[in-house]
Amino acid sequence: MRRLRNVKVVATLGPSSSDYDTIRALFEAGADVFRLNMSHGTHDDIAARHRIIRQIESDTGRPICILADLQGPKLRVGTFAAEGGEDLAPGAAFRMDLDPTPGDASRVQLPHPEIFAALEPGATLLVNDGKIRLKVETCGSDFADCTVVVGGVISNRKGVNVPDVVLPLAALSEKDRKDLEFAANLGVDWLALSFVQRPEDVLEARELAKGRAAILSKIEKPAAVKAYDAILAVSDGIMVARGDLGVEMPVHAVPPIQKRLVRGARAAAKPVIVATQMLESMIESPVPTRAEVSDVATAIYEGADAVMLSAESAAGQYPVEAVQTMNNVAISVESDNIYREVIEASRRAERKTVADAIVSAAREIAETTDIKAICCFTQSGTTATLVARERPRVPIIALTPLMGTARRLCLTWGTHCAITDRQDRFKGAVIAAAKVARRDGFATERDQIVVTAGVPFNVQGTTNILRVAPCDERLIFNADPE
Ligand code: PGA
Ligand code: MN
Repeated sequence: MRRLRNVKVVATLGPSSSDYDTIRALFEAGADVFRLNMSHGTHDDIAARHRIIRQIESDTGRPICILADLQGPKLRVGTFAAEGGEDLAPGAAFRMDLDPTPGDASRVQLPHPEIFAALEPGATLLVNDGKIRLKVETCGSDFADCTVVVGGVISNRKGVNVPDVVLPLAALSEKDRKDLEFAANLGVDWLALSFVQRPEDVLEARELAKGRAAILSKIEKPAAVKAYDAILAVSDGIMVARGDLGVEMPVHAVPPIQKRLVRGARAAAKPVIVATQMLESMIESPVPTRAEVSDVATAIYEGADAVMLSAESAAGQYPVEAVQTMNNVAISVESDNIYREVIEASRRAERKTVADAIVSAAREIAETTDIKAICCFTQSGTTATLVARERPRVPIIALTPLMGTARRLCLTWGTHCAITDRQDRFKGAVIAAAKVARRDGFATERDQIVVTAGVPFNVQGTTNILRVAPCDERLIFNADPE
């Protein structure tokens, strides 16, 4: 089974998509990666979904990628005496403090002493997805007296964002640490970190993950946008988390940031997901708005590795239709000549290593002659991501003996992953590649493929061979001395 597009689709699972039949339908409609959101659902729910995905993987014989998304240090107010909370009017005074006494129209608890320590007069507090805006007038170690700038209803445990201040918060809360350990033991392929502020946050998670999963940084704080290059350097992948980003920054600042983040990640050969509200209206409607379709298309034209569904697939009424929509938009965009022009114009020519040069040559050869696929043997997955960075016109087949590598690569642009036996000789590798290319519908016996590999085999980071090979095994046997 092969996809007829290059961009990948990430579908978040939730109450609308937790049984075998629905998840299988999402996979068949085009979901390449399933996201398990640790902010919702119990460990039992998460484990049940994980089990179903692995079952579908074995039933279909295709590697499937699982991403666990950690909640991160999300701030919340305490509770209110009045059921339904309080309606704050613009211009009113409102205090946040550490007192757990239920709140009223003049104050509420914000149970995070470290926030008060970091606040300064003039800072903004945003409540309830940014709907309410408070300006800090004076503050101390256990309170902040604010003026309501934009009013609205504030109620129990609503979220609070503090955009202007780098918060002295641990990147991972107690809950995150438990969730990380649980997800890593369960066997997820990627861990996504919410509200990353600095590169150290990523390193901390990596240390806890101990190689059990790759680390994806969600860029959703102004501090992370500023420190993007340093965060990217220590991350394995990136998510443009437009939901919180659009709360912490003006919404109109998001599109240029999206473009910059996508470009940077591609240059670093690390997968980047564009996320949130892509097909928001499909939560309730079987048809998207034209603007949403255009948003998905824009992310694809920009060269993103993946586009993501959140509530559309997790809690909406039309999860399968939402995946189908993304699939259709992708096929339409990728068959447009302008797409090729844009993608090729943004290819960076900078090459430093043998592997860089080989993947570039592989693309040139494949695009110059009639080659059906670029087949790359990869241990860690790095070679496949380098080929993907080239954004070639011909399909990429990543071959690896490691299931974890195959699953992780499902997030990478244009990469069709397949498990092969361990190889010891290049000739055997070429035969294995030809077999997969034929079996999965990329080539026939009369076709040719490009094969790249590293000799000696089974050592990381050694890509040093490129061969144009026939897909007919008899020809490979006859032509190759070894
Ligand atoms: P979330 O992250 O859905 O976990 O909040 C994505 C975003 O903020 O866009
Ligand atoms: Mn978020």
